[in-house]
Amino acid sequence: MLSSLRSIVQEVNSARSLPQVLTIIVKEVRAAMQAGVCSVYLFDETDQRYVLMATEGLREESIGKVRLAMREGLVGLVAAKEEPLNLEDADQHPNFAYFEETGEAPFHSFLGVPIIHHRKVLGVLVLQQQTQRRFASEEEAFVVTVCAQLSGAIAHAEATGALRKLASAGRGKSREATFRGIPSSPGVGIGRVVLVASNTDLASVPERFTQNAPAEVEIFRKALAAVKKDMRKLGSGLEDKLSSEELALFDVYIRMLDDSSLGGEVIAAITAGQTAQSAWSSVILKHVRTFNQMEDPYLRERAADVNDLGKRVLAYLQTSHKKEQPIPRRIVLVGEDLSATALADIPVNRLVGIISLRGSSNSHMAIVGRALGIPTVMGAIDLPWAELDGQELIVDGFTGDVISSATRTLRRSYLQRQREEKILNQDLEKLRDVPCVTPDGFAFSLWVNTGLRQDTMMSLRSGAAAVGLFRTEMPFLMRSSFPTEDEQVAIYREQLEAFAPRPVTMRTLDIGGDKDLPYFPIEEENPFLGWRGIRISLDHPEIFLVQIRALLRASQGSNNLRIMLPMISNLPELDQALKLIDRAYRELTLEEGYQIQRPPLGAMIEVPAAVYQVKEIAKRVDFLSVGTNDLTQYLLAVDRNNQRVAGLYHTLHPAVLRALKVIYDQASSVNCQLSVCGEMAGDPLCAVVLMGMGYENLSMSASTLLRVKSMLLNTSRQDASRIVKRALRLSDAESIAQFISASLKQPEVVKLIRSSSTNQRSTMR
Ligand code: PEP
Ligand code: MG
Repeated sequence: MLSSLRSIVQEVNSARSLPQVLTIIVKEVRAAMQAGVCSVYLFDETDQRYVLMATEGLREESIGKVRLAMREGLVGLVAAKEEPLNLEDADQHPNFAYFEETGEAPFHSFLGVPIIHHRKVLGVLVLQQQTQRRFASEEEAFVVTVCAQLSGAIAHAEATGALRKLASAGRGKSREATFRGIPSSPGVGIGRVVLVASNTDLASVPERFTQNAPAEVEIFRKALAAVKKDMRKLGSGLEDKLSSEELALFDVYIRMLDDSSLGGEVIAAITAGQTAQSAWSSVILKHVRTFNQMEDPYLRERAADVNDLGKRVLAYLQTSHKKEQPIPRRIVLVGEDLSATALADIPVNRLVGIISLRGSSNSHMAIVGRALGIPTVMGAIDLPWAELDGQELIVDGFTGDVISSATRTLRRSYLQRQREEKILNQDLEKLRDVPCVTPDGFAFSLWVNTGLRQDTMMSLRSGAAAVGLFRTEMPFLMRSSFPTEDEQVAIYREQLEAFAPRPVTMRTLDIGGDKDLPYFPIEEENPFLGWRGIRISLDHPEIFLVQIRALLRASQGSNNLRIMLPMISNLPELDQALKLIDRAYRELTLEEGYQIQRPPLGAMIEVPAAVYQVKEIAKRVDFLSVGTNDLTQYLLAVDRNNQRVAGLYHTLHPAVLRALKVIYDQASSVNCQLSVCGEMAGDPLCAVVLMGMGYENLSMSASTLLRVKSMLLNTSRQDASRIVKRALRLSDAESIAQFISASLKQPEVVKLIRSSSTNQRSTMR
């Protein structure tokens, strides 16, 4: 059973459309269960009925015709009760509904299992048998497992298929389609898609057709020639390392690309009308499926080889396609799993929207989006990204909606929203040089988070009093190797001098988690609990010391450097890091004659362990800064980068608020300077909470700074602390967020809250 399940899941995952997914399911499940019938009914939202979508065993002409209302028939009952129904004599059941056109009369026994994805019933899988017998409990368990495993693939195929369906209904002209993701940076962006093909996934290549087959054949032949050349080079480079049989495999692969083999098959498909990418993917996936189904383990393993060959050719096909594309004037960057490195390939001044299929509103790509003030949607998992290259999209960073082929009316209303935002931003601009003082006279320091070259200008213009967090890993991400000490000096000096005399807090390298350097990949099962931040720096003193030396040298003359250590979870690692910093300082000043001021040193409080050692940490450093992004993920056990659990990530969760209060009380008891530099500080609603607790230094993205300032100018600290006291008594994040917004009723504030998307509101839509 387990091997059938594995092969069904594998096959389904390589299918390219909903009909293909369903056909594989009914065929394979019927065979595995040796049943008479296997059918899938899916819920049709428009018709509010369950529709027979695929069957193996019933008459084919009944597909699409058999439709059951919400509680109608056994299918409706299974869906309504959200549990399996296993009957030996289905026709005796009061809910039984007979459909003559199916030819189901001879089948007596019935097993119906709901297909549920993220708590929503998508449909029902039904097995029927001629003999009057209940399906065995192991069989029932198997089908429940199949449905649970495949519901994601069905939901995905259904959502991505919507676009194709709509296109065909409109006779070739696409009709409006909306895809949902997680709102991650506010604003509306309208522009054309530039795809970042992070990997060459054969299954996600859309089925496309061409009018110019000879040109596609030409492109295909060029790609084949390039791969053959690569393979030959690879083979000859390994001559002394591989056996002659292993080397012979390279020749086999090269021959597989010949006209007499895969090459010929693909050219035939192109001549029949498919594009080169589309034809290549279909042919390869078909062969991968065949190899996967083979009994012989040696032959089964060949599936991986064919797949690898497939990816190599596809990569060349995609590159030649990219070269032909002009760069749009307004770019919406789309990718499966975008990271800041994608920005290196495009003119950032043309960027108007960012969409990533993976990730969540606290992934680093989302933070980059907010830093640049670009509307961003993360976790848009159902977006048929590969089909959208060059198309116009609307990115709604307030709601997380992504709209393709918008109607004129909708487009107009989004343009109107853009104009309103512009006016709001112009009003906020007037606050730039206004001191941040509450109506009851408390002064606040608003600082800015930076890291990218592109957001430095915005940060300077925001009127920030200091840089509270410079993510030094950002410049590292944009390169193809570690920068040298001198190169780092230049990068840091540029920042320090740009902000001088204002202090600049440089955080030492915080890679790992969702920030992988292309030239230092870290493969881990659980990256956020793994080798990250200070742990890597201490394991690689040669990297850490170079960075510290560069920071210190860069500060010579401007004297506005502060150094901050990320991910501190115990005192020995803090002590070791401080010792290394001291060593670098002494070497530079005592041995090499540099005149450098000793910079203030700080630590981040972003791991729950550190919350309970605030006093001890505080005594060793000059300042502390709370990283609420990580603190929230670790306190709530919610991966900040995982869209599946995005709805559980709340910085206003009572546990997070209580931890923030502990940190504040402990740090102030030893008079240690304290700030918050997580994204929470840049959310106007959360800023009120932090002010109410006593925090006075908030560091945030430049694009949110004036919004927070406006909020604090309108809210007295007395009110804020009253609100926080009551909020701390509430039981969950949603009630807390609602209570705080309800307590802040001034019209300016309501407008601000509406125009600042945060994870609390995104999950409360
Ligand atoms: C944080 O964790 O809150 C933080 C500021 O650091 P980063 O988002 O870079 O992990
Ligand atoms: Mg962090």
